[in-house]
Amino acid sequence: MSLEDNIKIIKTRIEVACKKSNRKPEDIKIIAVTKYVDIEKIDEVLDFGFDHVGENKVQDALLKYQALHDRATWHFIGQLQSKKVKSVIDKFEYIHSLDRISLLKELDNRARQKNLKVNCFIQVNVSGEETKAGIAKDELLSFAKIVSEYNSIRVEGLMTIAPNIQDKEIVRSVFKELRELRDQINREKIFPYQLKELSMGMSNDFDIAIEEGATYIRVGTLLFK
Ligand SMILES: *Cc1c(COP(=O)(O)O)cnc(C)c1O
Repeated sequence: MSLEDNIKIIKTRIEVACKKSNRKPEDIKIIAVTKYVDIEKIDEVLDFGFDHVGENKVQDALLKYQALHDRATWHFIGQLQSKKVKSVIDKFEYIHSLDRISLLKELDNRARQKNLKVNCFIQVNVSGEETKAGIAKDELLSFAKIVSEYNSIRVEGLMTIAPNIQDKEIVRSVFKELRELRDQINREKIFPYQLKELSMGMSNDFDIAIEEGATYIRVGTLLFK
């Protein structure tokens, strides 16, 4: 399949999911997850009008960033080791994987050194799978309260990865729960601003994520297969 065909399929699925849930396709931002492909291919995908690029490995990401940084908004979507923060902090506009205090402190340190604000998503392990990164659900509110004390960190919203399983109702319940957790944080006014964003949904499940309120979907495989 060509890139063009794949993009058509993705856009159609977004439209269908939006229709089902009374949402507008313009409100869904697609992060092209480019971890599978080289600079040339990313260049090609950007020519189709994508604005957001997502990478999950610092080393690979930096090379791609150097080549293409002014052509897109860069999202760091992978697990982030504290020692790598200094390499990504002034390059990636969004970090999707804030999930622990040690990382929060390092982000804050580096941000203040460079006098900038870091846009983050708090990653939540909604499904509770042991292999998954993210803060546990029952620790989210207290973690969010701590994050809110750091002026260098701007929290855009929450992020999760659904379990990779066939049962669509379980997948849906994970996305729904992430939305409810975000709404709860907003109701309790933990931040002096509302969290608007939900980063959820990948190639296999972004339709369901959109129906449950995703504002950023992260799509790789379906784009580049
Ligand atoms: C790889 C990756 C994606 C993209 O997943 P696909 O199934 O290839 O669309 C999305 N989010 C994260 C965090 C990833 O690591």
